[in-house]
Amino acid sequence: MTISNAQASAVTASGPLAGDREIPFCRTEITGEAQQAALRVLAGGWVTMGAESVAFEDEFASWVGARHAVAVSSCTAAIQMALMALDLPPGSPVLTPTLTFCGAVQAIVHARLRPVLIDADEETLAVSAAGVAAAARRGAAAMVVQHMAGYPVDSAELAAAAGLPIGSVVEDAAHGLGATIGGRAIGADARAACFSFYATKNLPIGEGGAITTDDADLAERFRRMRLHGMSGDAWRRYHRSGSWRYTVADSGMKANFTDIQAAIGRAQLRALGRWQYRRAAIAARYDALLAQVPGLELPPRPLDDLHAWHLYIVRVQDDFGMSRDAVVDALAAAGIGTSVHFIPVHHQPYFRDLLGADEYGSLPGADAIFPRLLSLPLHPGLSDADIDQVCAALMVLASR
Ligand SMILES: *Cc1c(COP(=O)(O)O)cnc(C)c1O
Repeated sequence: MTISNAQASAVTASGPLAGDREIPFCRTEITGEAQQAALRVLAGGWVTMGAESVAFEDEFASWVGARHAVAVSSCTAAIQMALMALDLPPGSPVLTPTLTFCGAVQAIVHARLRPVLIDADEETLAVSAAGVAAAARRGAAAMVVQHMAGYPVDSAELAAAAGLPIGSVVEDAAHGLGATIGGRAIGADARAACFSFYATKNLPIGEGGAITTDDADLAERFRRMRLHGMSGDAWRRYHRSGSWRYTVADSGMKANFTDIQAAIGRAQLRALGRWQYRRAAIAARYDALLAQVPGLELPPRPLDDLHAWHLYIVRVQDDFGMSRDAVVDALAAAGIGTSVHFIPVHHQPYFRDLLGADEYGSLPGADAIFPRLLSLPLHPGLSDADIDQVCAALMVLASR
């Protein structure tokens, strides 16, 4: 595959030529079937968590290959609940990548625990065993592991590097749906793997999340925890089949799912295999076309496992001849949406104050990587022509 002159000349310094398409960074696809399913629930007289949610949990668990799935309001709530269920003393240290979504670190704070930041690995953008071991010297009672962009990491290996039992690992699998490690799907064997159904994610519902676990008791605890600590089937209390009686034996939050989300999710799940296949094909086309563009470092690929391709992140190196920020602006002017994942947590004022700027003034790996990160459009609705247009635009910018 090569970028033709015609494609390259279709992008000019002043913006897209007539006929070029706007290419948004993301577009949420809710299938026609999912829209119909939502209407069916809306007309059915029961719209919040109920039988449809239970069916979604079963189907999601089987898609992942996990024993249990508990649907909740968000991945952020899922991470908080998974941490709370470790029953650690308040203030206990929890390792987390600094190159992650801020919400995943807020979840640690919400669980009344103390984030300890792990520097990013310059090769994979994830964390390395050495980086984990270095961070663990500041103290580690638990760890949140993240599959950055969909690149799978081995939780068992990282737990060992931290000196933690595997049960003390919470997986932030917001990017990991569809990835495998050792041939097993992310979330299939975890004590707690947390997924997101936010609008941009690989299984978009709009909002929502789920925790998969191999532990039946823990699944029951999550079911109580997501609904005020009420007994696990308390959602039935207004149902004909239910009883008004419930027991509150635990603390809990308001983080339940709804049957509207569940109906959308069940239908979206039927498209997920096809979407994952398309994401991988888009990544392969980017790889092939961008290999010719000087100064762009392409995303790492796992040797034997499946990448979930939630994000396609390139790094704008010095020999590209333009800064990352200038590339973002130039692509925006050409009608091409991009993003940056992520602003390191230790760059954010709230976390600097919370954790102490002295300690977190610098995490050299993340500091070096961050100014170069650029996420290109990646969603199943992108056509090959869209990808070619993005790559042609980058080629033109590189050769200025
Ligand atoms: C999106 C995201 C989350 C949060 O997901 P929500 O469902 O919006 O709470 C957590 N971690 C990472 C890495 C994410 O990208």
